[in-house]
Formats: sequence, structure tokens, C-alpha cells
Amino acid sequence: MHCPFCRHPDSRVVDSREADEGQAIRRRRSCPECGRRFTTVETAVLSVVKRSGVSEPFSRDKVIKGVRRACQGRDVDNDALVLLAQQVEDTVRASGSAEIPSNEVGLAILGPLRDLDEVAYLRFASVYRSFSSAEDFEREIDELRRHQRGEDTVSSTA
Ligand SMILES: [Zn+2]
Repeated sequence: MHCPFCRHPDSRVVDSREADEGQAIRRRRSCPECGRRFTTVETAVLSVVKRSGVSEPFSRDKVIKGVRRACQGRDVDNDALVLLAQQVEDTVRASGSAEIPSNEVGLAILGPLRDLDEVAYLRFASVYRSFSSAEDFEREIDELRRHQRGEDTVSSTA
């Protein structure tokens, strides 16, 4: 790692600590040439591969942006979106692959969004699954009802 001040090609790590709940490592470095200190952040790269083949780093902010659009006018606060994006990242990381197809990110969003807000879920699903007719909505709403009944059975036996 080059020193950002004097471009010396080497630096010494003086401190390392976990950041962002273990998903990043911050290192304090010291330049043996000019003596100045700087910080580097190391994260494991998780890329999302779009249908076009282009890949970009996974971003919770992007997840939040996409879901927020579907939540317009709905009573969903920012904390809930932040939590949802965290859940999506956990799901995507748990897949064990460093290159995630973008449709899997969409799938990972649908589950928690369904539990968060039904209308937002239907909006998001209609774009993600490219609904083309009212029947597509009907089918999805049937699924939603089945899911709710399933949950009700679980909670009533608990
Ligand atoms: Zn230096």
C-alpha cells in the first residue's frame, strides 16, 4: 500500500480492528518514510451480476433505494428499510458465492418485504417478475393469502 502523502511504496500496520459488524477491517498504517499515518478499509468483495453480464459491488443503499420506491405512500419507516437491507445482505452472503446474480438479490428482497408491507411487496414483485396482466397480480395475491394463512397456523399453535 503506497503512502498517500509521499507515495512511498511500503507502509507498516500499527492497528487493525473490525468494523461494520465484522464485515470490514480497518487498519491504521504508518509510513516509514514520512512518518504520517493513514487508514485503509478492507472488505470482502461481493458482486452483483446483472442480466447484461455487468457486475457491480453489492450495496445495501441500492437495495434500500429500490425498496423505498415500492414503499411510496406506505407507512414504512427508514429503520425498517435499513433492517431489510441488512437481512438481504445476510441472505446473499449466506449463499456462499462472491458473485450473486441480480435476480437472487431480488428474491432475497421479496421474503422480508412480504412481511413488511403487502402493497410494497406486490409493487416490487410486479416489477421484479415483470407482471404483464391482472392475472399475474391475482396469482401473487393468492400466494400472499396462502402465506398469511400458513403464518396464522404457526402462530395459533405457538
Ligand atoms: Zn509517506
